Amino acid sequence: MANERVLLHICCAPDAATPWPELSGEGFYVEGFFYGCNIHPKSEWLLRRGAAVRLSEILDGRVEFPEYEPSRWFESVSRFKDSPEGGGRCRVCFGLQLTAAAEFAYARGFKYLCTTLTISPHKDPDAINAIGFGVCEQFGLEWISRVWRKKNGFKLSAAKSREWGLYRQDYCGCEYSLLNRRDVV
Ligand code: SF4
Repeated sequence: MANERVLLHICCAPDAATPWPELSGEGFYVEGFFYGCNIHPKSEWLLRRGAAVRLSEILDGRVEFPEYEPSRWFESVSRFKDSPEGGGRCRVCFGLQLTAAAEFAYARGFKYLCTTLTISPHKDPDAINAIGFGVCEQFGLEWISRVWRKKNGFKLSAAKSREWGLYRQDYCGCEYSLLNRRDVV
């Protein structure tokens, strides 16, 4: 596996603070992908984007930043706007983010795809990994299935991001999570 290229979908910089070094330690060559079409409002997306830039500087790695496309997210999830957190809206949200990452990984010749999403104690890692497998199958990629929150992964990432001075949000990302602020990542 030495030097195999993996594209790491980054939901936010603090959540990548342990997955990225762990994958590197396993011999993968890691590049990040920060999309964030789910993040509302744009000022928040800019803050999180800035944190991902800082992360890339700290880790001396490359992060890809596609354009901010909130309309794509709103169009896809509008029918789920009343669904509870962790329900259909979140699954569509994961699918959109991971599909965008898979499209990029395929176009750039990556073999592997992974995500930081499973570090959150508020998200369903089985659902995320199942969606990841599905999108990888469509694009001929290999999904790296991980549950980063295991072995205190969330706490370790939070501690490291504090040490590195990374901006850390207090809601998951979308307009609905902003309204109730229960979905702290
Ligand atoms: S709560 Fe988080 S995962 Fe769920 S739809 Fe909103 S941004 Fe996406």
